[in-house]
Amino acid sequence: MEKIVVLGAGTMGNGIAHVFAQNGFQVSLVDVSQQALEKGLKTIESNLDRMIQKGFVSEEVKKSTLANLTPCVSYGETAKEADLIVEAATENTELKLKIFKELDELAKPKTLLASNTSSISITQIAAATRRSDKVIGMHFMNPVPMMKLVEVIRGYSTSDETTKIVFELSKKLGKVPVEVNDYPGFIANRILMPMINEAIESLYQGVAGVYEIDTVMKLGMAHPMGPLQLADFIGLDVCLAILNVMYDGFKNPKYAPCPLLVNMVRANKLGVKSREGFYDYSESKKAEKIAKQFLNLQLSVG
Ligand code: NAD
Repeated sequence: MEKIVVLGAGTMGNGIAHVFAQNGFQVSLVDVSQQALEKGLKTIESNLDRMIQKGFVSEEVKKSTLANLTPCVSYGETAKEADLIVEAATENTELKLKIFKELDELAKPKTLLASNTSSISITQIAAATRRSDKVIGMHFMNPVPMMKLVEVIRGYSTSDETTKIVFELSKKLGKVPVEVNDYPGFIANRILMPMINEAIESLYQGVAGVYEIDTVMKLGMAHPMGPLQLADFIGLDVCLAILNVMYDGFKNPKYAPCPLLVNMVRANKLGVKSREGFYDYSESKKAEKIAKQFLNLQLSVG
């Protein structure tokens, strides 16, 4: 396993590419948007600089990590060479089905296809290919260079061999893999998203304000950040998409997204990425400063 393709250079994709490249893999980072690709590469560089400042890695590691990365705006050619393709494109079922169908046609028969989806069924994604035994969920956590967990999701037909390879690979990246079966939200989001949704519902009903809700959970439950701020970091559009997958998948109203969340997404208040969510990140550099604090927090926790 040497050549890795990462699809999507957004919040997750650049982090996934970073950890593979830092651990000696040859990585093609692909995004359909040139702008996203450039932003992703810049993020990798600044994260490496921060890790150097903290004494976690050396200048040489930064050099070799960047040298292992090749940016591309299309996966046509690079997918043919890959041993593993990790898809981290936008959380949209139709898009992922289309991507996996194309990857199946392009990639070598033995290439493993992984999705970083937060909630979409791996079994459904695998069914778009002719290699469902080689399709698996590799759910990294944000921010990827700092967070230890990889939730490894077995689709209905994922083989033991594929699972074993992905477990070993995750360990080579310095991560801790945990095996989970393929049901809506898997484990991480099945537990996290109802908590975030309940926090938004409490705000919506006027039970408490943003500061109060987050402070209760931070100081009362020892959470490193409150659920509303965490939602801003994840992206409110991503939270909404995940809740909708769970709502549709379980047909249970307890997963219905709070109307306030729906409205905020409609108004393009998506959190840090749009510079406004439950908190205001509009002042220049403010979002960056908060993101830095978050990373430092993760460094001290992790
Ligand atoms: P994002 O919006 O930051 O980035 C998605 C990127 O995919 C964009 O840059 C977009 O241009 C690109 N893209 C779209 N179509 C593409 C295609 N056909 N080929 C290549 N690139 C394409 O999203 P994100 O937050 O990084 O999420 C990516 C995936 O990771 C989603 O499935 C999401 O559910 C999952 N995830 C997100 C988080 C999180 O905290 N944001 C955590 C874990 C998992």
